[in-house]
Amino acid sequence: MSWDERQRAMLAEMGYRLPVALDPTPEPEAAEPEPIVVAAPPPPVMRVAVPAPAAVMAPPAMTQAAPAQAADFAGLDLPALRDAVAACRGCGLCEQRRHAVFGQGALQQAQWLVVTDPPDESEDASGDSQPGDAGRLLDRMLQAAGQRRAGDDATAFVTPLVKCRPPRGRAPQPAELEACDAVLARQVALLQPRVVLAMGLQAARRLTGTTEPLGRLRGRVHQWRGLPVVVTFAPGYLLRSGADKAGAWDDLRLALSLLRAS
Ligand code: SF4
Repeated sequence: MSWDERQRAMLAEMGYRLPVALDPTPEPEAAEPEPIVVAAPPPPVMRVAVPAPAAVMAPPAMTQAAPAQAADFAGLDLPALRDAVAACRGCGLCEQRRHAVFGQGALQQAQWLVVTDPPDESEDASGDSQPGDAGRLLDRMLQAAGQRRAGDDATAFVTPLVKCRPPRGRAPQPAELEACDAVLARQVALLQPRVVLAMGLQAARRLTGTTEPLGRLRGRVHQWRGLPVVVTFAPGYLLRSGADKAGAWDDLRLALSLLRAS
Protein backbone atom coordinates (compact mmCIF):
# COMPACT_ATOMS: atom_id res chain seq x y z
CA MET A 1 0.00 0.00 0.00
CA SER A 2 1.44 3.42 -0.90
CA TRP A 3 0.52 6.69 0.77
CA ASP A 4 0.44 10.13 -0.76
CA GLU A 5 1.42 13.29 1.10
CA ARG A 6 -2.21 14.11 2.03
CA GLN A 7 -2.75 10.70 3.62
CA ARG A 8 0.59 10.93 5.43
CA ALA A 9 -0.41 14.27 6.91
CA MET A 10 -3.77 12.87 8.04
CA LEU A 11 -2.17 9.81 9.58
CA ALA A 12 0.35 11.99 11.39
CA GLU A 13 -2.51 14.08 12.74
CA MET A 14 -4.13 10.89 14.01
CA GLY A 15 -0.91 10.07 15.81
CA TYR A 16 -0.15 7.12 13.55
CA ARG A 17 3.33 6.56 12.20
CA LEU A 18 3.64 4.37 9.14
CA PRO A 19 5.65 1.19 9.66
CA VAL A 20 9.14 1.31 8.15
CA ALA A 21 8.23 -1.35 5.58
CA LEU A 22 5.44 0.87 4.22
CA ASP A 23 7.22 4.20 4.44
CA PRO A 24 9.99 4.94 1.95
CA THR A 25 11.16 7.84 4.14
CA PRO A 26 11.17 6.22 7.56
CA GLU A 27 11.48 8.22 10.72
CA PRO A 28 12.82 7.01 14.07
CA GLU A 29 10.79 4.13 15.43
CA ALA A 30 7.59 5.17 17.16
CA ALA A 31 7.02 4.42 20.79
CA GLU A 32 4.89 1.39 21.57
CA PRO A 33 1.23 2.37 21.90
CA GLU A 34 -0.11 2.13 25.40
CA PRO A 35 -2.27 -0.89 26.22
CA ILE A 36 -5.85 -0.63 25.06
CA VAL A 37 -8.10 0.94 27.66
CA VAL A 38 -11.25 -1.11 27.78
CA ALA A 39 -14.29 1.12 27.88
CA ALA A 40 -16.37 0.83 31.01
CA PRO A 41 -19.72 -0.96 30.63
CA PRO A 42 -22.85 1.16 30.68
CA PRO A 43 -24.11 2.09 34.19
CA PRO A 44 -26.52 -0.34 35.80
CA VAL A 45 -30.20 0.35 35.43
CA MET A 46 -31.64 1.83 38.62
CA ARG A 47 -34.61 -0.12 39.91
CA VAL A 48 -37.00 1.75 42.11
CA ALA A 49 -39.47 -0.12 44.24
CA VAL A 50 -43.02 0.91 43.43
CA PRO A 51 -45.38 0.83 46.42
CA ALA A 52 -48.68 -1.02 46.01
CA PRO A 53 -51.60 1.38 45.44
CA ALA A 54 -53.91 2.01 48.39
CA ALA A 55 -57.19 0.09 48.01
CA VAL A 56 -59.51 3.04 48.78
CA MET A 57 -57.58 6.00 47.38
CA ALA A 58 -57.94 7.26 43.87
CA PRO A 59 -54.62 7.30 41.96
CA PRO A 60 -52.93 10.71 41.80
CA ALA A 61 -53.36 12.67 38.64
CA MET A 62 -50.38 12.14 36.31
CA THR A 63 -49.22 13.80 33.17
CA GLN A 64 -49.34 11.03 30.59
CA ALA A 65 -46.69 10.97 27.90
CA ALA A 66 -47.95 10.14 24.44
CA PRO A 67 -47.57 6.40 23.91
CA ALA A 68 -44.87 5.20 21.60
CA GLN A 69 -46.16 4.46 18.13
CA ALA A 70 -44.62 1.67 16.10
CA ALA A 71 -43.18 3.27 13.00
CA ASP A 72 -43.12 1.72 9.55
CA PHE A 73 -40.19 2.91 7.47
CA ALA A 74 -40.51 0.35 4.68
CA GLY A 75 -40.67 1.86 1.23
CA LEU A 76 -39.24 5.25 2.21
CA ASP A 77 -36.35 6.74 0.28
CA LEU A 78 -33.53 8.48 2.12
CA PRO A 79 -35.05 12.00 2.28
CA ALA A 80 -38.44 10.61 3.32
CA LEU A 81 -36.78 8.42 5.93
CA ARG A 82 -34.94 11.44 7.32
CA ASP A 83 -38.26 13.30 7.64
CA ALA A 84 -39.92 10.27 9.24
CA VAL A 85 -37.15 9.98 11.81
CA ALA A 86 -37.42 13.68 12.69
CA ALA A 87 -41.08 13.10 13.57
CA CYS A 88 -40.70 9.56 14.91
CA ARG A 89 -42.46 8.52 18.12
CA GLY A 90 -41.46 4.88 17.86
CA CYS A 91 -40.13 4.73 21.42
CA GLY A 92 -39.99 6.78 24.57
CA LEU A 93 -36.72 8.46 23.60
CA CYS A 94 -38.74 10.90 21.50
CA GLU A 95 -40.04 12.55 24.68
CA GLN A 96 -36.88 14.37 25.68
CA ARG A 97 -34.96 14.69 22.45
CA ARG A 98 -34.25 18.09 20.97
CA HIS A 99 -33.32 16.68 17.58
CA ALA A 100 -33.30 13.20 16.17
CA VAL A 101 -29.89 12.46 14.66
CA PHE A 102 -30.42 10.78 11.32
CA GLY A 103 -26.81 10.76 10.17
CA GLN A 104 -24.78 12.21 7.37
CA GLY A 105 -22.96 10.97 4.31
CA ALA A 106 -23.48 9.17 1.04
CA LEU A 107 -26.69 10.05 -0.73
CA GLN A 108 -27.13 6.66 -2.39
CA GLN A 109 -24.85 3.66 -2.11
CA ALA A 110 -22.22 3.81 0.61
CA GLN A 111 -18.98 1.87 0.84
CA TRP A 112 -18.80 2.22 4.60
CA LEU A 113 -21.63 2.50 7.11
CA VAL A 114 -20.24 3.93 10.34
CA VAL A 115 -22.50 3.19 13.31
CA THR A 116 -21.70 5.26 16.39
CA ASP A 117 -22.94 5.21 19.98
CA PRO A 118 -26.29 6.91 20.78
CA PRO A 119 -26.34 10.70 20.40
CA ASP A 120 -24.60 12.74 23.06
CA GLU A 121 -25.63 16.20 24.18
CA SER A 122 -23.91 18.00 21.31
CA GLU A 123 -25.56 15.73 18.74
CA ASP A 124 -28.94 16.13 20.41
CA ALA A 125 -28.53 19.92 20.38
CA SER A 126 -27.39 20.20 16.78
CA GLY A 127 -29.08 17.25 15.11
CA ASP A 128 -25.73 16.48 13.45
CA SER A 129 -23.90 13.21 13.73
CA GLN A 130 -20.50 13.63 15.40
CA PRO A 131 -20.15 17.43 15.37
CA GLY A 132 -17.21 19.34 16.82
CA ASP A 133 -13.74 18.01 17.54
CA ALA A 134 -14.83 14.37 17.57
CA GLY A 135 -16.35 14.80 14.13
CA ARG A 136 -13.22 16.47 12.80
CA LEU A 137 -11.14 13.57 14.07
CA LEU A 138 -13.58 11.10 12.52
CA ASP A 139 -13.36 12.95 9.20
CA ARG A 140 -9.56 12.76 9.27
CA MET A 141 -9.73 9.05 10.02
CA LEU A 142 -12.15 8.47 7.15
CA GLN A 143 -10.06 10.54 4.77
CA ALA A 144 -6.93 8.61 5.68
CA ALA A 145 -8.82 5.47 4.68
CA GLY A 146 -9.98 7.03 1.42
CA GLN A 147 -13.52 7.63 2.69
CA ARG A 148 -15.53 10.82 3.15
CA ARG A 149 -18.93 11.61 4.57
CA ALA A 150 -19.40 15.11 3.11
CA GLY A 151 -20.21 16.24 -0.39
CA ASP A 152 -22.09 14.82 -3.35
CA ASP A 153 -19.42 12.15 -3.80
CA ALA A 154 -19.46 10.97 -0.18
CA THR A 155 -18.57 7.30 0.18
CA ALA A 156 -19.42 6.73 3.85
CA PHE A 157 -22.51 7.28 5.95
CA VAL A 158 -22.22 8.02 9.66
CA THR A 159 -25.24 7.40 11.88
CA PRO A 160 -25.88 6.64 15.55
CA LEU A 161 -27.18 3.32 16.80
CA VAL A 162 -30.41 4.97 17.98
CA LYS A 163 -31.41 8.35 16.66
CA CYS A 164 -32.60 10.05 19.84
CA ARG A 165 -30.51 10.76 22.92
CA PRO A 166 -31.34 8.70 25.99
CA PRO A 167 -31.96 10.95 29.02
CA ARG A 168 -28.85 11.84 31.02
CA GLY A 169 -26.75 9.84 28.58
CA ARG A 170 -27.87 6.45 29.88
CA ALA A 171 -27.63 3.38 27.68
CA PRO A 172 -30.69 2.69 25.50
CA GLN A 173 -33.05 0.08 26.89
CA PRO A 174 -33.79 -3.09 24.92
CA ALA A 175 -37.21 -1.86 23.74
CA GLU A 176 -35.65 1.39 22.50
CA LEU A 177 -32.96 -0.49 20.62
CA GLU A 178 -35.57 -2.78 19.10
CA ALA A 179 -37.74 0.15 18.01
CA CYS A 180 -34.88 2.02 16.36
CA ASP A 181 -33.54 -1.08 14.61
CA ALA A 182 -36.19 -0.41 11.97
CA VAL A 183 -34.50 2.89 11.05
CA LEU A 184 -31.07 1.31 10.86
CA ALA A 185 -32.45 -1.57 8.81
CA ARG A 186 -33.95 0.84 6.30
CA GLN A 187 -30.69 2.81 6.13
CA VAL A 188 -28.85 -0.42 5.36
CA ALA A 189 -31.38 -1.35 2.69
CA LEU A 190 -31.05 2.04 1.00
CA LEU A 191 -27.30 2.53 1.34
CA GLN A 192 -26.22 -1.08 0.73
CA PRO A 193 -22.86 -0.64 2.47
CA ARG A 194 -20.08 -3.13 1.86
CA VAL A 195 -18.44 -2.73 5.27
CA VAL A 196 -19.78 -1.62 8.65
CA LEU A 197 -17.58 0.15 11.18
CA ALA A 198 -18.94 0.07 14.74
CA MET A 199 -17.42 2.95 16.71
CA GLY A 200 -17.84 2.78 20.47
CA LEU A 201 -18.82 0.19 23.05
CA GLN A 202 -22.61 0.43 22.71
CA ALA A 203 -22.58 0.27 18.92
CA ALA A 204 -20.08 -2.59 19.00
CA ARG A 205 -22.05 -4.66 21.48
CA ARG A 206 -25.35 -4.18 19.68
CA LEU A 207 -24.00 -5.03 16.25
CA THR A 208 -22.02 -8.03 17.47
CA GLY A 209 -24.77 -9.27 19.79
CA THR A 210 -22.38 -9.63 22.71
CA THR A 211 -21.59 -7.97 26.02
CA GLU A 212 -17.84 -8.35 25.63
CA PRO A 213 -15.42 -5.51 26.34
CA LEU A 214 -14.45 -3.41 23.34
CA GLY A 215 -10.88 -4.67 23.47
CA ARG A 216 -12.04 -8.22 22.83
CA LEU A 217 -14.28 -7.19 19.94
CA ARG A 218 -11.57 -5.32 18.06
CA GLY A 219 -9.19 -6.98 15.62
CA ARG A 220 -11.65 -9.46 14.14
CA VAL A 221 -14.45 -9.47 11.62
CA HIS A 222 -18.02 -9.88 12.88
CA GLN A 223 -21.22 -10.36 10.90
CA TRP A 224 -24.38 -8.26 11.13
CA ARG A 225 -27.24 -8.42 8.64
CA GLY A 226 -24.94 -10.33 6.29
CA LEU A 227 -22.35 -7.53 6.36
CA PRO A 228 -18.80 -7.62 7.72
CA VAL A 229 -18.40 -5.51 10.86
CA VAL A 230 -15.18 -4.08 12.28
CA VAL A 231 -15.14 -2.63 15.79
CA THR A 232 -13.11 0.36 16.91
CA PHE A 233 -13.03 3.16 19.45
CA ALA A 234 -15.51 6.04 19.56
CA PRO A 235 -14.11 9.30 18.15
CA GLY A 236 -14.82 11.10 21.42
CA TYR A 237 -12.83 8.50 23.32
CA LEU A 238 -9.90 8.88 20.93
CA LEU A 239 -9.83 12.62 21.63
CA ARG A 240 -9.18 11.80 25.28
CA SER A 241 -6.90 8.83 24.69
CA GLY A 242 -4.52 9.70 21.89
CA ALA A 243 -2.43 6.60 22.58
CA ASP A 244 -5.20 4.47 21.10
CA LYS A 245 -5.24 6.29 17.76
CA ALA A 246 -2.68 3.87 16.37
CA GLY A 247 -4.96 0.98 17.33
CA ALA A 248 -7.89 2.73 15.67
CA TRP A 249 -5.86 3.07 12.50
CA ASP A 250 -5.20 -0.69 12.60
CA ASP A 251 -8.98 -1.20 12.80
CA LEU A 252 -9.54 1.08 9.82
CA ARG A 253 -6.95 -0.82 7.83
CA LEU A 254 -8.85 -4.03 8.59
CA ALA A 255 -12.05 -2.41 7.33
CA LEU A 256 -10.19 -1.17 4.26
CA SER A 257 -8.93 -4.67 3.49
CA LEU A 258 -12.50 -6.00 3.65
CA LEU A 259 -13.65 -3.29 1.26
CA ARG A 260 -10.93 -4.20 -1.21
CA ALA A 261 -11.78 -7.89 -0.94
CA SER A 262 -15.52 -7.37 -1.45
S1 SF4 B 1 -34.92 6.48 19.07
FE1 SF4 B 1 -35.50 5.76 17.03
S2 SF4 B 1 -37.46 4.64 17.33
FE2 SF4 B 1 -37.11 5.92 19.18
S3 SF4 B 1 -38.22 7.82 18.75
FE3 SF4 B 1 -36.08 8.14 18.11
S4 SF4 B 1 -36.07 7.63 15.91
FE4 SF4 B 1 -37.98 6.77 16.77
